Amino acid sequence: MESKANRQLHVFFFPFMAQGHMRPTINLAKLFASKGSKATIITTSYFTSFLSKYIEAKDSGVQIDIVNIRVPTEEVGLPEGVNSVHVTSTPDMQQKFFEACGKLGPQLNQILEQHRPDCLVANMFFPWAPDVGAKFGIPTILFHGTSYFALCAQSSIFLHETHTNVLSDSEPFFIPNFPDHIEITRNKLPEFVRHEDGSHFSKLFKSMRESEFKTYGVLVNSFYELEPAYADHYPKLLGRKAWQVGPLFLYDEDCNSEGHACLKWLDTKRPNSVIYVSFGSIASFNDEQLMEIATGLEASGQQFIWVVKKEKKEEWLPEGFEERMEEKGLILKGWAPQIPILEHKAIGGFVTHCGWNSTLESICAGVPMVTWPVSAEQFYNEKLVTEILRIGIEVGAKKWKRLVGDFVKREAIERAVTRIMEGEEAEEMRSRVKELADKAKSSIKEGGSSVLDLNALFDDLRSARIENGSSST
Ligand code: UDP
Repeated sequence: MESKANRQLHVFFFPFMAQGHMRPTINLAKLFASKGSKATIITTSYFTSFLSKYIEAKDSGVQIDIVNIRVPTEEVGLPEGVNSVHVTSTPDMQQKFFEACGKLGPQLNQILEQHRPDCLVANMFFPWAPDVGAKFGIPTILFHGTSYFALCAQSSIFLHETHTNVLSDSEPFFIPNFPDHIEITRNKLPEFVRHEDGSHFSKLFKSMRESEFKTYGVLVNSFYELEPAYADHYPKLLGRKAWQVGPLFLYDEDCNSEGHACLKWLDTKRPNSVIYVSFGSIASFNDEQLMEIATGLEASGQQFIWVVKKEKKEEWLPEGFEERMEEKGLILKGWAPQIPILEHKAIGGFVTHCGWNSTLESICAGVPMVTWPVSAEQFYNEKLVTEILRIGIEVGAKKWKRLVGDFVKREAIERAVTRIMEGEEAEEMRSRVKELADKAKSSIKEGGSSVLDLNALFDDLRSARIENGSSST
């Protein structure tokens, strides 16, 4: 009879419904499958087509199954079809989407009862998931999809409540019990942390913090050499195991193969001569801010690729901008092939909102950043990039604002763009980030730190199965 320890592991992944969460989860599921685990992703119909190309790759021995769930949007007054956070266009809609996701517990219960996997890897925005898993003796691992640095900062601030001792939102305070002396202001914390307001997000955030202590451990999309002090500090802070298995997108061989006209345009440019400007899949700037970016970019005199999610142009571009920028700049509307763009040798800098995926992609491509955080944990990532790693320059955003971001003036944009593209300081940052890029690539090779942690995780999961006596179908 096959022993429990040797039987194939079956792991369920339950990502949050957003591009920035889905992509690393797919890569994580593929990685588990490539190591011999059965991998199943629980998601909405919207992401099923996104996933299907990976499922077709059965002949390569990597198979991922999908189980569908439906976000009960009608229960919170959202229109049907809002099945990814990026479809929400206002802060109110976004909050309702999160509320609807909070009602997915009964569906998860049914799925786990039916399939009885060995482990559930759940997103942090489902803080009730560990309790559902526990009902069936299934250990839950949280997958945050952000840096160790941000996780430590968030936990330290929340546990010590230092932010409640300052007199104003703009008064700096040191992040308590932290490996480095890092100052931050309350303005850069999410509004519901700044002042607990009893809102849905305030409650969600509190239960997210509490659920970390109930999990079997935490998976982190990072690599040890990037933030060693924080990779060591986080498990102690939490009293839980943590495994770093990233950068996950580096496992995705397909990501270099996308053909796009902008890559041909980049082929005509000198090395490090173009700045890439993009703010991820969720942030959404108003026309006034877009006008300011256009003017700042033009004043910097740098060549650029700028990704804008809006379709219509007239209202937010300065008069004659496109004609004047014909050779110098490209505006891409909608979705851009970000990874191949960043990896192109012509790219010399990246103006980013510091979403963790974008930050990691920039690091792995050896591209220094202009940091322009908007919301989520992006202000912490900015600190990591500018103060710890010293591979970026702040544009000067001072306030956390859901979706729309703090207003940044054209002069600040021009200054930061020029600094990241030209001069000795830029060269030093470029050489530091290129060193990190090499370390990132080594971390996922045989014997590398992320591979060793992944092996340790598999050993831990097998032991947990024996302890729990769970049975996979
Ligand atoms: N992305 C992309 N093209 C775009 C915008 C975003 O490929 O036009 C990808 C980007 O490479 C990254 C992800 O979408 O992998 C965005 O995740 P991130 O954590 O940076 O930000 P979020 O969208 O979650 O705010």
